[in-house]
Amino acid sequence: MNLQENSNNKYCRKCLLKDMPENVYFKNLYDYIENLSEDIKAETREYERRLNACRKCDNLLNGMCRICGCFIELRAVIAKNRCPDMDKKW
Ligand code: SF4
Repeated sequence: MNLQENSNNKYCRKCLLKDMPENVYFKNLYDYIENLSEDIKAETREYERRLNACRKCDNLLNGMCRICGCFIELRAVIAKNRCPDMDKKW
């Protein structure tokens, strides 16, 4: 599916990130987070604590962790996930 040809601003669900406009893939990312089961999500306060730790971390680069390669908002929202750094910042 050609993105420019679709007047409904839909995109191919099989598109790679590089095939999507930036605003679309970030919206997908946030929709994904919002629609995760509450059972697996970290508490809001814990999620914010994790994000604040990442904000201060030298391994944060363009929203991704340089150690694991994850978008930190995706990694941090899952309760069971841990910071991959040896110092375990969260
Ligand atoms: S090393 Fe830990 S604190 Fe630093 S960016 Fe990665 S997940 Fe966040």
